[in-house]
Amino acid sequence: MARKLYCRRKVKVAMVADMVRATMTLRSRAASACSKKIGEGTYGTVYKAICHSTGERVAIKKIKILYEEDGVPSTALREISLLKEMNHINVIRLDNVYSSRFSLFLVFECLDMDLRVYLKRYGPFQEMPLRNAVLHCFRGIEFCHGHRVLHRDLKPQNVLIDVKSMRLVLADFGLARNFSIPLKAYTHEVVTLWYRAPEVLLGQQRYATPMDIWSLGCILAEMATGQALFPGDSEIDTIFRIFRLLGTPTDESWPGVTTLRDYKQRFPRWSDTGFAEVRTGAVEAARKAGCSKTVGDSGALGEDGIELLGLCLKYNMVDRPSAKSALRHSFFEGADRATPL
Ligand code: AMP
Repeated sequence: MARKLYCRRKVKVAMVADMVRATMTLRSRAASACSKKIGEGTYGTVYKAICHSTGERVAIKKIKILYEEDGVPSTALREISLLKEMNHINVIRLDNVYSSRFSLFLVFECLDMDLRVYLKRYGPFQEMPLRNAVLHCFRGIEFCHGHRVLHRDLKPQNVLIDVKSMRLVLADFGLARNFSIPLKAYTHEVVTLWYRAPEVLLGQQRYATPMDIWSLGCILAEMATGQALFPGDSEIDTIFRIFRLLGTPTDESWPGVTTLRDYKQRFPRWSDTGFAEVRTGAVEAARKAGCSKTVGDSGALGEDGIELLGLCLKYNMVDRPSAKSALRHSFFEGADRATPL
């Protein structure tokens, strides 16, 4: 036991020493390059920089950390080493980690923009690009779930795009686990609840992979319509928006819902709309984009897209598909399976 403790301590000391050495290199190398702020996330600020040794652009996320007496919190170290092991084309690549006294610097591959900015700039996805983009997200999450990592905060801001290759990657992965789900971001900006699964909004404290599948369902609808699906301004507003689209859940449609901490018997009763609003939004988006072929009843989503959405947005989380089984859905037929994994 004593030996084990000794070894662990040694590893930690070595890691921290390594980080400090690396920080000095980072400071001297990146001082001139690390100039442009490109984003503000839940845990810190993101800067764009050029790596002097490779000439590649990188994104450096600076996370303020309240240090424990003996250095970087071990939970953060564990999480980071886990992220460093994650190697998948649809998951952000973490190249390096450096530290200074009060901050951690995570160096990631740099992509062009996040999905929220992309949708604003280029509008919703049409036809095959929609299927490809959604495929990339599900592949990314399949890989992470396969490695026992939950995202817990999937949203368009956390999906990044390389515009030339139209490769999508999931970002801001895993770190959330060290901090639970915050309501206030690092910047005191309110963390968005729009993509949060109903079981979490109703107070369930045990998090599992289906909560990420719910978020991907919301993102799928937004990619096709250009509009957030449940843009609530509070937990209850988000919940009511969900109920208005899918119908208020009952113990039949969602066994156990009435026992959830924040469930109220007095919730208004709405009936299921069959995704009416999503269909209209997607048709409108297809029309605007001049895609007469896909206008139909559900725009670029098509009936198979609506079906996949319905599966991801099942109230009872055990009814939602795993990422692996979602990837077998007919919506992805003909999508770009050739992209290397
Ligand atoms: P995050 O803290 O990861 O949520 O990042 C905040 C914002 O910074 C994101 O919404 C992106 O707009 C931007 N960003 C983060 N990481 C990257 C990256 N690797 N490449 C390009 N932009 C990024």
